[in-house]
Amino acid sequence: MYQFSRARELLEICEKQNLELPDVVILSEEEEWGRSRDMIWDEMECKLRVMENSVRKGLEPDFKSTGGLIGGNAAKLNSYLSYDSLGGKVINQAVAYALAITEYNAAMGKIVAAPTAGSSGILPGVVIALKDEKQYSHEQIINALFVAGGIGKVIASNATLSGAAGGCQAECGAASAMAAASAAYLGGASPRRCVQAAAMALKGLLGLVCDPVAGLVEVPCSKRNATSTANAIICADMALAGISSFIPFDEVVDAMFRIGNMMSDDLKETARGGCAMTPTALEFAKTFRGSMMKS
Ligand code: SF4
Repeated sequence: MYQFSRARELLEICEKQNLELPDVVILSEEEEWGRSRDMIWDEMECKLRVMENSVRKGLEPDFKSTGGLIGGNAAKLNSYLSYDSLGGKVINQAVAYALAITEYNAAMGKIVAAPTAGSSGILPGVVIALKDEKQYSHEQIINALFVAGGIGKVIASNATLSGAAGGCQAECGAASAMAAASAAYLGGASPRRCVQAAAMALKGLLGLVCDPVAGLVEVPCSKRNATSTANAIICADMALAGISSFIPFDEVVDAMFRIGNMMSDDLKETARGGCAMTPTALEFAKTFRGSMMKS
């Protein structure tokens, strides 16, 4: 009754039963797994606490990742926010939080995969920054995370959320789509507008390859989370302004899956293409492997 695998089905349920997106996502979880609404809600609250903790920890300035390639950038951007930043406070705060989580993840800190560890900064970066900057209530934030869950479910059901299977479009692209829908929901968008935000966000990142330097989830992953975070907020604002995606979300998801299947394995987490094959990356990988052998 509440099950959906396509965005159009999700929207039909919303419209026929006069429900909001988070209601349908929660009801579908209850129905599918036989769990109570309270249990599902508590679990999401627990995830939000982990997200907030990873932001706090990742903002510490003397952070270093396992590979030593990232750390401290979140703190730098957070300090810069006190100045008159070019992109404005909300976007830069969200980006600082996204960087914080990815830096904490790369230092083996506990994060929420949203949908994956590599793309874990984007959704929390957006919703926690909006909570801080726009004073949305705790309940609105939890509901926004369920909106993201609904979008993630559609992508997982019809394509992939794995960089190894579909490239970074499947990780950062999916996370950006989830975050865009959440942000649009918080901004007061209808279910249809939220899905429009997701479509524009994913479309903007189609074709993005997975090319981690030395196979570490550090470069380009952390800064790719940053740009995908900004992409999500921009697409949410476009949707709120009444701009629509020419290609419907379900078709963008199908396109993403087809692109992933066409991608060379060298561009799917193997560190054999893209940024991972630049002279700088190869030099680092050689030194890093040497230091690992010694330790
Ligand atoms: S480049 Fe690959 S490992 Fe890094 S975030 Fe993107 S999909 Fe994940």
